[in-house]
Amino acid sequence: MKVWIDQDLCTGDGLCEEIAPDVFVMLDDGLAYVKEGDKIFAESEDNPEGAKGMASFADDQMELVVESAEECPGECIYIEP
Ligand code: SF4
Repeated sequence: MKVWIDQDLCTGDGLCEEIAPDVFVMLDDGLAYVKEGDKIFAESEDNPEGAKGMASFADDQMELVVESAEECPGECIYIEP
């Protein structure tokens, strides 16, 4: 499964990173981004896909990613097959 964040709607509260730190990370701009291991999907991290990139996550992260999406106040975490 894959996940991405619409940063335009992110409130920057950091809930997703608290719940699933292996999948979400807050950057200096105060917004949350998805990551895959060391690869962070943000242009500021030299990733040309930037925030439009979708990060794959392991099956054992599914529960935490779903919880993050449900709790996200910006309703801006999208899970894709
Ligand atoms: S939980 Fe949602 S609104 Fe909060 S930091 Fe994460 S993506 Fe942004």
